[in-house]
Amino acid sequence: MKYILVSGGVISGIGKGVISSSIGTILKSYGHRVTAIKIDPYLNIDAGTFSPYEHVVPHVTDAIMEWVERVAKVPVNGDSEEPEVCIIELGGTIGDIEGMPFVEAFRQFQFRVKSENFCNIHVSLVPQPSTTGEQKTKPTQHSVRALRGLGLSPDLIFCRSQTPLERAVKEKISNFCHVGPEQVITVHDVSSLYRVPYVLEKQNLSGYFHKRLGLTKRLRKSMLS
Ligand code: ADP
Repeated sequence: MKYILVSGGVISGIGKGVISSSIGTILKSYGHRVTAIKIDPYLNIDAGTFSPYEHVVPHVTDAIMEWVERVAKVPVNGDSEEPEVCIIELGGTIGDIEGMPFVEAFRQFQFRVKSENFCNIHVSLVPQPSTTGEQKTKPTQHSVRALRGLGLSPDLIFCRSQTPLERAVKEKISNFCHVGPEQVITVHDVSSLYRVPYVLEKQNLSGYFHKRLGLTKRLRKSMLS
């Protein structure tokens, strides 16, 4: 099983859901069996009946990892075949206190399932204030730093912006966030959300996933034809 974790930074409602489903669409277009999990990080525990022998870590984090592995295997295409790829959208924003047990669970999970089976995507914001008209990278730098501080290094940084990222801005994010320029992906505002998979595929996202996760293409590429 291959896992793709999608987390978000800077603001909520940044487009994690749209990006997760667009990645699913791209991978399905190559014949992969894809499932998805959406996590809304809320904990609702009655401390009065809580066992003194159970703590948040490791019991909660173990429970999260076991739950993800179990749910990821459930067939979803109307047949009995196990999915090959599970896209996990972690709701909220990196740094939210209610999301911390989940972030810690995935920090451990990347070693549990091994790096070749786990890809970490971070969605960030590149604002463009009207005062200068410049695309600003600082929020992304801070967000990636916060993510790294929690033990998760991004394989891909998806930058939500009004207009496509300028080359110099992409290079700056690459340089300051310690990833290659090809690991910085533009996801600018589009008039229809159905265009997002095209925007991503034009940046060879499928090629990245096939290489990074060792997936073999099955179908002829159909999306952009
Ligand atoms: P999140 O999962 O981070 O809360 P969503 O995927 O639900 O965010 O997206 C939040 C809002 O932004 C939705 O109304 C969605 O239609 C819009 N949106 C997301 N991506 C884009 C995009 N590339 N262009 C235009 N609107 C977008």
